[in-house]
Parts: sequence; structure tokens; C-alpha cells
Amino acid sequence: MKRRDVAVIGGGPAGLSAALVLGRSLRDTILIDAQAPRNMVTASSHGFLTRDGISPFAFRRMANEELTAYETVEIWKNTVRDIEKTPDGFTIDVESGEQIFSKKVILATGKKERLPSIQGFRDVFGKSVFVCPYCDGWERRGEPLAVFGSGEKVVAYASLVRNWSSDLVVFTNGEHLPGEARRELERRHIKVVEDAIAACYSVHGRLQSVQVENKGPIRRTGGFIMGTGTEQSFELPPRLGASMNERNEYETDAHGRTNINGLYAIGDASHSFTGLVCAAGEGYEAAVHLNKTMIEEEWQRERQAAAET
Ligand SMILES: Cc1cc2nc3c(=O)[nH]c(=O)nc-3n(C[C@H](O)[C@H](O)[C@H](O)COP(=O)(O)OP(=O)(O)OC[C@H]3O[C@@H](n4cnc5c(N)ncnc54)[C@H](O)[C@@H]3O)c2cc1C
Repeated sequence: MKRRDVAVIGGGPAGLSAALVLGRSLRDTILIDAQAPRNMVTASSHGFLTRDGISPFAFRRMANEELTAYETVEIWKNTVRDIEKTPDGFTIDVESGEQIFSKKVILATGKKERLPSIQGFRDVFGKSVFVCPYCDGWERRGEPLAVFGSGEKVVAYASLVRNWSSDLVVFTNGEHLPGEARRELERRHIKVVEDAIAACYSVHGRLQSVQVENKGPIRRTGGFIMGTGTEQSFELPPRLGASMNERNEYETDAHGRTNINGLYAIGDASHSFTGLVCAAGEGYEAAVHLNKTMIEEEWQRERQAAAET
């Protein structure tokens, strides 16, 4: 069985950043990554200083190359299937059948999107229809955009998107919008379409129009979706008893510590949408805290050993 100080599970910006700091802190670290990041559907990521516009896979390749300079970090392409708590750490089962023992674990496994089952939606998601205007609003500025969302919250979301384009149509996909919400949007010349969506038509991922039932296509060249509904990419077995919030995200303190001793959760696994730079920042924070904790534990053991001799 491989034995490590720390196992980082998930090699997105959160896990990669944690592994870098741990490796540099001389911690025997293994980074296990299934290589299916949340943003893999998109060609370019924005907002990470010095890497604005980089493709998600180029970002990861560069980070992986940096990590290979540290003999303290092993990178493993594999999928974690199960984790068990032991008195002094964790055992981790991976898809290929091996088992790893690790004193500490950082979960940086991210989220998966649950997209609406609209014909053609998968073709445009991440290409011309996005979740986060801060990530992709600049590229769509001034365009005729679709806003997919419903309920009162769609007003705030549409007001955010309107920062980048005033030519908006809100599609509620068959849901009735409360009267005041509808009036508030219409006062700002934002059209509301409550009919069910039949299809999104696109060319090479570029949205051309949104077809609603019993009506002609409505021309739109891009858009934003308010909430795709996400789920954890990896669920810890319930027997471990990790505390989750009402959105099924790991509850942590400011350092990423969960309620399970030695287990940290960072990035999208513990937030709705961290973004690349904040996920990387959380990786740094968790790694620093975890290393400090291990130093304190080692000092404590040495103190006890000295007292016993
Ligand atoms: C369409 C789209 C576009 C986006 N664009 C931007 C943008 O431009 N700028 C920006 O800042 N943010 C953007 N984001 C958000 C960004 O992708 C996430 O916030 C960020 O990737 C979170 O980082 P993470 O490390 O927590 O998770 P991820 O990057 O999702 O990485 C998690 C990793 O864990 C691995 N994993 C999962 N389960 C297991 C397992 N059981 N065993 C081993 N490995 C596992 C996955 O394969 C994956 O590699 C976008 C998101 C989407 C959906």
C-alpha cells in the first residue's frame, strides 16, 4: 500500500494549488485526478491573472509540469472510489484496484453540471451560453443574449447580465413569472418569454436562436443560464458523517477544514461556484493550514516521546 502524508483528490485549480504548496513544504503528497474538470466544455477561461483566455487543459498541463519539478509530489491519473477513516488517517480505494494510506486528505473534486433537457442545449453550453458573466460576459458584450431562468431571482440575474448587454430576452421555459418580477424586467425593456423551450439552434456551438413552443425562433447569439443545478463530482460515503449544507456542499471553516478530523474540502466541492483564482487561493490556504497542523502534531509527539524517556 502506498503511504503518503497527504492525498489531494482532484486536480483542478484548487487541488493543484494545494499540492504545490504541500510539495514545497516537503510533505509526501499524492495528487489523484480523474481529469474531468467542470469547465472542460469551454475553450477558454477568463479572469485568472496572467492566464486570461487560457484553455482549461492548457492551464492544467502547465500546472502539472510545474508540479513534476517536486519529487515530493506524485501525480496519479485515477479515480477515487471510496475513502475509509482509520484512527491515524485514511485509506483510499482507487478505480484501478490499489489502496493508499494517507494521514490527511484534501477533497478538491469539484462539481458536475445538471443541464436542462432542452434539445440543442448541450451544444451551446460552455461555447456561447455560460453560467458566470464575470467569466464570459466580456466576450458576449453588446450581443443579443438569452437569459435562461425563472422565479423572482431571475430579476437579479438579468440585472447582472445587463451589465454586459442591454439586448436581453428572459426565457422561463414554461414557468410563470410573478407579476412584479415581470414588470420590473419589462420596465428595463427586457422581454420575458414564458413558453416552454423546444430547442436551441446553433452552428459550431454558437447559439443562433431559441425556439419556443408554438412560436417562431427568437434570434439570440449567446446567453447565460441562472442555475444549472449542480451535484458533487464525488460523494463521500455517508458513513463518514461529513457535514453538508442545504446545497449538498461540504461545510468547512475558513481554512477548508471539515468536521472530520484530517479531512479538508476546497473549491467548488464546498462552494456553488468558486472560479479558478479563488479555487487556487483556497488550495493555498488549506495546504498552509494543513502543514501547520502537521508540524504541531509532530512537535506534540516529540514532546511526549521526550517526556517518556
Ligand atoms: C462552462 C463553464 C465555464 C467556466 N469558466 C470559468 C472562467 O472563465 N473563469 C473562472 O474563473 N471560472 C470558470 N468556471 C468555473 C470553474 O471551472 C470552477 O469554479 C473551478 O474549476 C473549480 O475548481 P475546482 O478545483 O474546485 O474543481 P474542478 O476544476 O472541477 O476540478 C475537479 C477535479 O477533480 C476531479 N475528480 C472528481 N471526482 C474525482 C474522483 N472521485 N477521483 C479523482 N478525481 C476526481 C475531476 O476530474 C476534476 O479534474 C467555469 C465553469 C463552467 C461550468
